Amino acid sequence: MPDPTKKGRPMRIWIDQSECQNSGLCEEEAPQLFGIGNDFFAYVRRDGQLLDQPGGEDSQAEVPEHLAELAEFCAKACPASCIHLIG
Ligand code: SF4
Repeated sequence: MPDPTKKGRPMRIWIDQSECQNSGLCEEEAPQLFGIGNDFFAYVRRDGQLLDQPGGEDSQAEVPEHLAELAEFCAKACPASCIHLIG
């Protein structure tokens, strides 16, 4: 049964760069959601823009509904388990 508290709230995603192992897997699988910054750590994208300032609310991006399954797949596949989903 779906969680009624989640209704209407888009999933959000963020990466803990302090744990990222620079595998590049997330960007390879979902370049619409992830990218590698100049510091070689992975960051999420918001409207195509790389949010390359680590930490805090500003580094979270909403996941479009049609990419939610892909985001979940990437979070599970991340070798460092540092891709976090909210909602
Ligand atoms: S899959 Fe995980 S460890 Fe690899 S680059 Fe992405 S966030 Fe970093």
